[in-house]
Amino acid sequence: MDIKLGTKKAITVVIGGGLAGLAAAGALSGHGQKVILIESKGKIGGRATSFVDTASGDLIDNCQHVSMKCCTNLQYFCEEIGIGHYIKDEPSMFWRTPDGKTSLFKGAQLPAPLHFAKSFLDAHFLSWNEKIRLSLGMALLRLTKEDEDAPFLEWLANHFQSQRCIERFWAPVLISALNTPMEKVGLHYARKVFVDVFWKNTKAYQLGLPVVPLSRLYGEEVITWLEKTGVEIRLGSAVKKVGLKSDSSWEVILDNSEVINADNIVLAVPFQRVADLLGPIAHLDPAIGMLQGLRTAPITSVHLWFDRPITDLPHVVLLDSIGQWLFSRGKNDQEEYYYQVVISSSAELLKSGHDTVLKTVMAELPSFFADVAKAQLIRGRVVSEKQATFESSYGVDEFRPMQTTQIKGLYLAGDYTQTGWPATMEGAVRSGYLAAERILENEGKRVRCLQPDMR
Ligand SMILES: Cc1cc2nc3c(=O)[nH]c(=O)nc-3n(C[C@H](O)[C@H](O)[C@H](O)COP(=O)(O)OP(=O)(O)OC[C@H]3O[C@@H](n4cnc5c(N)ncnc54)[C@H](O)[C@@H]3O)c2cc1C
Repeated sequence: MDIKLGTKKAITVVIGGGLAGLAAAGALSGHGQKVILIESKGKIGGRATSFVDTASGDLIDNCQHVSMKCCTNLQYFCEEIGIGHYIKDEPSMFWRTPDGKTSLFKGAQLPAPLHFAKSFLDAHFLSWNEKIRLSLGMALLRLTKEDEDAPFLEWLANHFQSQRCIERFWAPVLISALNTPMEKVGLHYARKVFVDVFWKNTKAYQLGLPVVPLSRLYGEEVITWLEKTGVEIRLGSAVKKVGLKSDSSWEVILDNSEVINADNIVLAVPFQRVADLLGPIAHLDPAIGMLQGLRTAPITSVHLWFDRPITDLPHVVLLDSIGQWLFSRGKNDQEEYYYQVVISSSAELLKSGHDTVLKTVMAELPSFFADVAKAQLIRGRVVSEKQATFESSYGVDEFRPMQTTQIKGLYLAGDYTQTGWPATMEGAVRSGYLAAERILENEGKRVRCLQPDMR
């Protein structure tokens, strides 16, 4: 006889279909929960998204999204669903200066961090003096304690780093990884980036680049997989309010006034929406009030279509320029060669407007890529996500809440929660897995959803 007959399944409503919500829903569904995922837009993926370029009809990304081999949870998420093959590993990094010279960074068959020794010693954009300073700086950074924090520029100045070391090495890596201006970067997350990417494992630095648009990557196949595991997905349904009932259960009120009852809520919306959706009950947990301390930064991507290729490199870090990273996105059906130049932490730049951004990037490119002079720009388009991510500034963890709240049955997920990671897809997936673990733990189920770090 099945003694569980008649046992009511706990209902968890996950609000938000970004990577955090998707990861939470997927992790919960296999463990006896009834999971309902509600997303206000007509598609999933949240900030990792694409739109239709009206000129070509192509689906293009709001911005190139890059992951790395050290993103073990994102990788697990994609592999479990069966979309991992849409992400291509790139074992090389190219760094180029405006004189067109390129240095290749590629791991050799040596233990970390020596795998980069040859690339580093060969780097044309650093003098010997800078290489010595940087090696010393990296070693000293490795020796700092994981929980230490301080304004990173001060730390660099106190640890033998010259202005050029900062401009040519520390800043290009950190501004892209953290979407935070150098003046605000803290030691804690700077350390995390360099230790995780360069020190822990010889493969950790390898880039993962989607070979399909983001809306395709995080699209139909993810929905089908979630539905197969039992998740009910409601797209195009915005949650208006979340209310706590007298019996400590929850009600989720949709824009169309429909009410869904739940035992648990995973609020996986951007942090700016959390207090608003909770209304007066937000005051029951001071951590929710602390979210006001988080600051955001924009990311700008300059989309360029040329009549011929301007480089055969798949991606290039651009030094001494406004454009930070160029990605080759291939040829479309109209025989146009598509590139994206990405500029993180672009607040200052945006003051001059998108037309100026396009002109500035176009004025810079010929010195990096001689073939730009021969090519014709068919069209250019600048896209800025104004609140792309929170800034991983010095002391930011004070404002990042845990996934468990002080309000029974309410859990938070999102890249902004305490994940140990900056605002990334990896951080978002981690937060979803952590929220799922806490819900299951509360039901007496010890399930490990979070994947181990790379060693
Ligand atoms: C321009 C740009 C470039 C980036 N580049 C990178 C990169 O290279 N590498 C990287 O790792 N990360 C990158 N990121 C960051 C990455 O996209 C995010 O960290 C991650 O996608 C956040 O996921 P999330 O689930 O936490 O939040 P979101 O993606 O914001 O998801 C929240 C979801 O909640 C939904 N929602 C909001 N309100 C409601 C409501 N009332 N009812 C129902 N649903 C609601 C939203 O529509 C959204 O789908 C980039 C981000 C941007 C914007």
